[in-house]
Amino acid sequence: MDASGQAVGSNQTPARRKIVVIGAGLAGLAASEALIRYFGSSVEVSVLEGRQSAGGRVGSFQDPAMKMTVDYCQHVAMGCCTNFLGLMHRCNLESHWDVSSNLQFVSRGFPTRHVKTWRWLPAPLHQLPVLWRLPFLPIHHRFQIQLAMWKIIRRSGGDWGEDVRARNWLIAHGQSKASIELFWDVFASSALGDTTENISMASLRHLFVDGFARHQNASDLWIPRAPLSEIFGVELVRCLQRLGVQIHFGSLVERIEQHQSAFRVVTKAGAIYEADHVIAAVPWHQVGKLTEAIPELCHLSTVADLPTSSITGIHLWFDRSIGDWSHLISVGTATQWVFKPTWQSKPILHSATDQTGSVHHYYQVVISGSQHWKHLRKDELQRIVLEELRELLPPCRDAQLVSSRMVNDPRAVIVCHPEVEKIRPKSRTALPCFHLAGDWTATGWPSTMEGAVISGRNAVASLARAEGWDFLESQPKPKQGWFAKMLMS
Ligand SMILES: Cc1cc2nc3c(=O)[nH]c(=O)nc-3n(C[C@H](O)[C@H](O)[C@H](O)COP(=O)(O)OP(=O)(O)OC[C@H]3O[C@@H](n4cnc5c(N)ncnc54)[C@H](O)[C@@H]3O)c2cc1C
Repeated sequence: MDASGQAVGSNQTPARRKIVVIGAGLAGLAASEALIRYFGSSVEVSVLEGRQSAGGRVGSFQDPAMKMTVDYCQHVAMGCCTNFLGLMHRCNLESHWDVSSNLQFVSRGFPTRHVKTWRWLPAPLHQLPVLWRLPFLPIHHRFQIQLAMWKIIRRSGGDWGEDVRARNWLIAHGQSKASIELFWDVFASSALGDTTENISMASLRHLFVDGFARHQNASDLWIPRAPLSEIFGVELVRCLQRLGVQIHFGSLVERIEQHQSAFRVVTKAGAIYEADHVIAAVPWHQVGKLTEAIPELCHLSTVADLPTSSITGIHLWFDRSIGDWSHLISVGTATQWVFKPTWQSKPILHSATDQTGSVHHYYQVVISGSQHWKHLRKDELQRIVLEELRELLPPCRDAQLVSSRMVNDPRAVIVCHPEVEKIRPKSRTALPCFHLAGDWTATGWPSTMEGAVISGRNAVASLARAEGWDFLESQPKPKQGWFAKMLMS
């Protein structure tokens, strides 16, 4: 197998093995892709998905009022997500994403600021404008942040142990309340699902080093240019089916029975699938139900209690445009991101036209770590967000809200708290033929699309190890720039 993801001959695999993957979220789909691509005709891969479509959390719904396909929640990837982007590349899905090296910030009292990295400087210096062009950060805060960033990249400045919480480290290294709120928490909440008060310093370092400092393309934003259901539920599924993966929708797995070294996977409808290997790629709160009858795996029921973070998507339709950017990062407000999906302007499928024929303008506000707002009713949070948008964006002041919908997922992701990292299980289990996948397993990444894809590959690596096959767990990280390499060594 080569690092670019090309299949190699499967002459190393002696017998055709039956593999059942439970769950067609990104983790299950990534595992199936890796299995069939790397081990070809030596494996028979069946994916059992409880719902009628694939994608899991990366999905969309049809809004009945606006008659539009809308993502449950906007998703973005970054240039550092090499495993996720590798999957998109191998399945010819890269063209469904817009790539931007610009970040656009807005804050009370300041106009929208486009921040572009300086590609003529080596990484991580190319990121200097992100800090130095943010208008809402007073100059002495920028110096503070720069100094802490230097220590983070160099891994100097005291304890980096697993138990260290980011906020404690930041305060110990001279970060003021304002720097934490206006800078560190903005990135931590968006990417890691919680503020620096709770997340581990190790995960914050991972975010800044791998997501910003390591390579010039690491922080590029990859924004979908089609509904998630189309990219993952239709196109990715089609690609896997062409490769030979069998996907069975509406096949909710009820239990797994162990028969010597093989398994019987039984669905709610009574269908039985024999398997030499099982990859369970269901969320952490579902896996325990499937494994409770298997003594070696019954401990997995405890992962249902992993602490989680909620993410709220507020879908807003206005009677006019409130801005023509692809995204805005809002600082110092409940609103964190505002997206304007480009594909919503396509006719027929996605434009929402009212009875008089006028086109409505769709935007989505995303609030990560929205558990901090759970004391508010939905309409109260939406009112706050609308007031903020009117304050931040002058064109919004005259715009009429035509329709709105709030989608809150209270268990959107598991959080990067120090104690969580210690209990995330590995893909390899006590049974050599039973493997785990899912963004909640021990991937070294937060609960993200990248984490899900890595977990799928880890499960395949575990399976390959049991069979004595060669397999490279994850794609290499982006090549480190020469200066970054020097700094981080
Ligand atoms: C609101 C929200 C916003 C997010 N934003 C981002 C973002 O911007 N960027 C990013 O990288 N990540 C983001 N994420 C995280 C990302 O969506 C997840 O990390 C990733 O999709 C998880 O994939 P998964 O396959 O591990 O799990 P899931 O997507 O949950 O897939 C599990 C699948 O298993 C199926 N299943 C469950 N039980 C059974 C059973 N018994 N039998 C058969 N099938 C079963 C489910 O139906 C589902 O299809 C976001 C998540 C949410 C919820």
